[in-house]
Amino acid sequence: RVIRKVEAIIREEMNRAGSIEMLMPVVQPAELWQETGRFDKMGPELLRVKDRHGRDFIIQPTSEEVITDVARQELRSYKQLPKNLYHIQTKFRDERRPRFGLMRGREFTMKDAYSFDRDVEAAGKSYEAMFAAYCRIFDRLGLEYRAVAADTGAIGGDRSHEFQVIAETGEDAIVYCPTSGYAANMELAEALAPSSPRAAAAQPLTLTPTPGKSTCADVAALLGLPLTQTVKSLVLATDSLDDKGVITGTQVWLLLVRGDHELNEVKAGKVEGLKGGFRFATAGEIDAAFGCKPGYLGPVGLKGVKIVADRTVAAMSDFVCGANQADHHYTGANWGRDLPEPELVADIRNVVAGEPSPDGQGVLAIQRGIEVGHVFYLGKKYSEAMNASFLAEDGKPRHFEMGCYGIGVTRLLGAAIEQGHDERGIIWPVSMAPFEVVICPIGMDRSELVREQAHKVYAELQAAGVDVLLDDRGERPGAMFADWELVGVPLRVVLGERGLKEGLAELQGRREAQADNVALGELLAQVRARLKA
Ligand code: ATP
Ligand code: MG
Repeated sequence: RVIRKVEAIIREEMNRAGSIEMLMPVVQPAELWQETGRFDKMGPELLRVKDRHGRDFIIQPTSEEVITDVARQELRSYKQLPKNLYHIQTKFRDERRPRFGLMRGREFTMKDAYSFDRDVEAAGKSYEAMFAAYCRIFDRLGLEYRAVAADTGAIGGDRSHEFQVIAETGEDAIVYCPTSGYAANMELAEALAPSSPRAAAAQPLTLTPTPGKSTCADVAALLGLPLTQTVKSLVLATDSLDDKGVITGTQVWLLLVRGDHELNEVKAGKVEGLKGGFRFATAGEIDAAFGCKPGYLGPVGLKGVKIVADRTVAAMSDFVCGANQADHHYTGANWGRDLPEPELVADIRNVVAGEPSPDGQGVLAIQRGIEVGHVFYLGKKYSEAMNASFLAEDGKPRHFEMGCYGIGVTRLLGAAIEQGHDERGIIWPVSMAPFEVVICPIGMDRSELVREQAHKVYAELQAAGVDVLLDDRGERPGAMFADWELVGVPLRVVLGERGLKEGLAELQGRREAQADNVALGELLAQVRARLKA
């Protein structure tokens, strides 16, 4: 019932935004996915199956290929544009780590919409319309959320936003600036270079014994220095391949972040030379390049290793780093004196709370969220790959400008529960609740009055369009109340013989500790007012 309510709100708002509902197949021919190359490129998340004739199919994890195929057959002229199509349907992703029930299942329900436009400007309007529709949807669902800018990968541009429901248990870190309204996900949030220039070298380079201390924290503690004086080394490798995919060479990379900072792999993947993909180096590769085991690696005196320094590291002086000798670190290391200036300087780390916002208008804060929706400008990625075009006003064929827009319908239930619960169970927002009101009659089997009034109130609320449930199981009051608190029905009406004799019912909200006595004649009005509030 909750899924149906969420779907109904999504449907209403998508339709209102001019999107057209359709239904695409769950089982899709591999040929379409081969056209875009995703049949081979996507990992095991894509479930591949064969039919009785041995032909390849996939179970849809998303539907760009099918919708682009529909568009190239149905949309021929600019006069048919813009078009936006959606469906709400089962998706399957063979996730590496399915977990947290509805949050990350392998089979789940997604609303996915796709827009087709004649040019970039029109695609921007479609994007804005979907963004606005998403805000209306999540507002109506009664959730606390934030739209955060997200990475656009190879497509580029700034049109990608994730809708994150705020929850401490969320998988994603959201970076935002309370004063400016800036919000981005961790992959995108930029860590600015330190505002003050690098200080002059003040210490000599000193080889310092650090036996058994292989982490920055241990080394800093041993030497009595702040962690912010240390530099952490991460070793990556890139392989060059020939046309047949055979490895012809390997380059080892040393990425440096300050001891208290964390590497961000998405950011690292944007560094020139790492864009084509990288992996962590093997123990053998590390030994060959550094002559030393991990824990004592550093940038001084290296040959043949490409060094990428985080912006913060590039501005450090007198720093502590591994000496490429077991059980030793250098203190007082300085760029330009003890080792060459870093060849590559880039933002390769996660931002931390308290540092300046990239828009220069305050400091960053971090909170956790659950991604429930994503709006994404695709450009011509799919229309070019599948040669989907329309005739433009000048009579020439042109590839569609596309966008895609997803909402995790089933994940939304999990997110709502994370935001609304207490020790007694779920507290649904009214718009999502499986029932708005539950009637709990006490002693219905013993009292004719209770039985009669319970059915009467039930019929009255139902006739008024209230989504009401009558608990006629004959359970004891305690058991009845506990069940409906667990299920999270927003309003409870208790009817007992004593109250009914005085013409009274008890009305209690799920978040309230006390019930109110309400005259039976006032009950409907009271219920309506409370559901609206
Ligand atoms: P995630 O990073 O959480 O894996 P995604 O980037 O793969 O998400 P999209 O491809 O943008 O997600 O899918 C659209 C929406 O579908 C997501 O915003 C999310 O709400 C939902 N979703 C994605 N994967 C799952 C899953 N395994 N189970 C439930 N919902 C999911
Ligand atoms: Mg995913």
